[in-house]
Amino acid sequence: IEVVGAPVFNDVKELKGAVLVFHDITELKRVEQMRKDFVANVSHELKTPITSIRGFSETLLDGAMEDEQLCKQFIDIILKESTRLQALVQDLLELSKLEKEELQLTRKLIHVDEFIKGITTLVEQQASTKSITLDVKLEEGITFYGDPDRLQQVVLNLLYNGINYTLENGRISLDISTDKNLVLIKVSDSGIGIPEESIHRIFERFYRVDRARSRNTGGTGLGLAIVKHIVEAHKGKIEVESEVNKGSTFTVKLPKEW
Ligand code: ADP
Repeated sequence: IEVVGAPVFNDVKELKGAVLVFHDITELKRVEQMRKDFVANVSHELKTPITSIRGFSETLLDGAMEDEQLCKQFIDIILKESTRLQALVQDLLELSKLEKEELQLTRKLIHVDEFIKGITTLVEQQASTKSITLDVKLEEGITFYGDPDRLQQVVLNLLYNGINYTLENGRISLDISTDKNLVLIKVSDSGIGIPEESIHRIFERFYRVDRARSRNTGGTGLGLAIVKHIVEAHKGKIEVESEVNKGSTFTVKLPKEW
């Protein structure tokens, strides 16, 4: 708390009392701290792949290039790290666009059957590389209003997470239904789950339960922060239930019209 004080005098300059103004600056401090943490996190996230790209390039120029196998191995790492950088920059730009208050959603009538087709093709391909089965269950003929490109990103991010955090031969499912004036999009997986003490933090920017695991799957740590923004811009909500070693379920609840 910040306090500013001043004496109060009457007409004949006698001291009558004092005025004290108390400013509760905890909220301001918290916002400022979050901003600082964010900048530090971004710098760290950018630094790691850059250091590695630089290091491996230098080693190649210093002679490692002559060993063909080593050369290939190093170039693979350079490619992987630059892909990470690209994903990170893309997610950061997306997040900053979403955080601008003038964010304009392109609202259209969405036919869920069509909306889902493009998504499942992309996801099935990815799932098959880990022999993961994707089950899709749709209530027939659902339509609602929303920004189709942004909502596609929501569903894709949740499904890709489902794949990333599920072991080989697991299952993921996408279930879309309606409940009164809500559309419910449910993404479940039979994966590693999220420990109870971490659940309330997973929507924070750069929060990861297991940093190494997220890095290995090419995660930026921003996916769920982006998802939450888009859902809230649609006046919707996102909920999560999870059990370690059993799996997780993310439920997006969107109003059909707003
Ligand atoms: P990342 O790029 O690390 O996947 P996200 O923002 O998408 O970033 O998710 C944040 C963290 O939440 C992940 O690092 C992971 O620890 C956890 N998480 C997200 N989805 C799942 C899931 N389906 N199963 C288990 N953990 C998950």
